[in-house]
Formats: sequence, structure tokens, C-alpha cells
Amino acid sequence: MVTKNKRETKGGFVMKIIMLGAPGAGKGTQAKQIAQAYDIPHISTGDIFRANIKEGTELGKKAQEYMDKGLLVPDELVCDLVVDRIHKDDCEKGYILDGFPRTIPQANALDEALAKDGEKIEFENIVNRMSGRRSCKDCGAIFHVQYNPPKKENCCDVCGGELILRDDDKAETVKKRLDVYHEQTAPLIAHYKEAGSLHEIDGTQDIKVVFEEIKSILG
Ligand code: ADP
Ligand code: AMP
Repeated sequence: MVTKNKRETKGGFVMKIIMLGAPGAGKGTQAKQIAQAYDIPHISTGDIFRANIKEGTELGKKAQEYMDKGLLVPDELVCDLVVDRIHKDDCEKGYILDGFPRTIPQANALDEALAKDGEKIEFENIVNRMSGRRSCKDCGAIFHVQYNPPKKENCCDVCGGELILRDDDKAETVKKRLDVYHEQTAPLIAHYKEAGSLHEIDGTQDIKVVFEEIKSILG
């Protein structure tokens, strides 16, 4: 089975793939081809252990005791290794994990690392959005200095009013507002999902693409 997390950012697609399957199912065979086709690193924990055994490292010696018996190497020897690996520069555009995670604690360690990365990316994206936001003090029209600039600097395209930076769009306040969102507002997603009236749209895409998606939902 392949689980996939593909999203588009300003730098292009990020593709994170996990190959999950029994030993001999063909994970390595497919992973190598996927890595080549999408130009992302193939990260096989089995390969990493075998390389360590060959080099005679401490990790290799410890791992070999388990591998020779057909047992899993303990989680504490695997998790940090993979979390460090996926933070290397070559993983920026994504990666394909082959043979990891193999246990629930490993999956939790990966989830935790991804959540931390997600929080960091979310915070950076949102601070960038908000510090560049300019609102018209007369009619409330919204612009962005980089992503949706007005035709004339600091001047509203709609009414000619002055464009201002909101007081609560400063980085220190944005962090607090995000915490409040996650605590108090995000639970509404489940509420509306249950009611069957939720449509999710990836707001990290270009303004025009987001609007096209909204129109396709509204019909
Ligand atoms: P895994 O990484 O899941 O342990 P491998 O990719 O190493 O599995 O595949 C195990 C063996 O089965 C290899 O010798 C490989 O060439 C072969 N193999 C892989 N996929 C298939 C397939 N679809 N049909 C037949 N043999 C396959
Ligand atoms: P593989 O090459 O994926 O078939 O892995 C070979 C052996 O390495 C396994 O039988 C385990 O002993 C060890 N191993 C590889 N990945 C992991 C992992 N994520 N957790 C624990 N042990 C692993």
C-alpha cells in the first residue's frame, strides 16, 4: 500500500510517500522507480541498517542482533534516525519512506515530526500573508503587497482610499491568533463535517486557483 501526501507550494509539489507492506511485497522495487520518476530520495531503513552493518558502526552492530533473528530493530534506534534523515536538504521536495514506519510508536514519531514541520510552515506562511496584507481604511478591500498588489502603491483600486496594515497583523499577535484558532475554532471543522456541509480547499494555492475551486464547488 502506498500512502501519499502531495501538496503544491510556491516552490512546486512536495510529495511524501510511505510504502507499507509485508516483507517481499515489492516495496523496494517500486520505491526505487518512484524515487527516480519524481526525483525524490528513497529512504529505506533496511538499506540504512545494512550500510551501517557493512561499515561496522555501533548502530550496525546493535541492529544486526535483531535483523539476524528476523526481529524489528527497537523503535529508539530507528525513529530519531529517520526524523533526522527527512530534515536533510534533499528532502525539501519530499521523499519516499520504504520500511518505515513499521510500528505504532514509529508512526507516532513520524506524525509528531510532520506536525511540528506543519506548524512551522503554517506559521511562516501565515505571518508572510498577514505582514503583507493591506486593507483599505475606507471600503475594506483587501490587497497583498506581493500576491495581490494594488495598481498604485498604498492606494485602493476600488475607491482610491488609503491602504493600511492592521494592528493585529504583527508577527507577535499572529502567533497568539493562530493558537486561539487551533484551540477554539478548528473543532468546528469536525462539527460541519459531521453535518455533511464541509468542503475543504487548499488555501496555500494561488488566489485565482482557490477561486476556481470554490466556483467548481458552488456550481
Ligand atoms: P520489499 O522491499 O517489499 O521487501 P522487494 O521490492 O525487495 O520487496 O521485492 C522482493 C522480491 O520480489 C524481489 O526479488 C523483487 O524483484 C520481486 N518482486 C517485486 N515486485 C514483484 C512483482 N510485482 N512480481 C514479482 N516479483 C516481484
Ligand atoms: P527491510 O530491508 O525493510 O526488509 O528490513 C530488513 C530488516 O531491518 C528488518 O527485518 C528489521 O530487522 C530491520 N528494520 C528495517 N526497518 C525497520 C524499522 N522501521 N523498524 C525496525 N526494524 C527495521
